[in-house]
Amino acid sequence: MPDAAAYLATRFHRLRHPDGTERRFEIFNSFGQPEKVAAAQRLRAQHSAAAMINELTLAGFVITHRDDVPAVDPIDQPGHKIAPLICAHCGRHIGAIKVNPDMTVPLTSVAQQALAQLPTTCDEHKALSNA
Ligand SMILES: [Zn+2]
Repeated sequence: MPDAAAYLATRFHRLRHPDGTERRFEIFNSFGQPEKVAAAQRLRAQHSAAAMINELTLAGFVITHRDDVPAVDPIDQPGHKIAPLICAHCGRHIGAIKVNPDMTVPLTSVAQQALAQLPTTCDEHKALSNA
């Protein structure tokens, strides 16, 4: 299971934009820097990437790698359903999960981690609904 944040941290110096150009964050460029400075920049990149992934996760995005997705996606199977996940306290929508026709929900390790990262307080749920 590739680590999205760790990968992103290695790409800040050369991000590939969908238009074919590159975006570079020079603050993370450690080329030619003394090792102590380069190590601090790598650490800053790792923390920044982890914060970005966390922010996306808190906003409801699920970051996965294609290697962790089943070969046949349940959404392609006839009769599948998407079950909304609702907070039992405030009633706000906090996510969704694919349910197979036989009412099973196979969870990859990435999906299990994503569920564990769902916001757990109603203040966070309110922030999600206002996003
Ligand atoms: Zn709630």
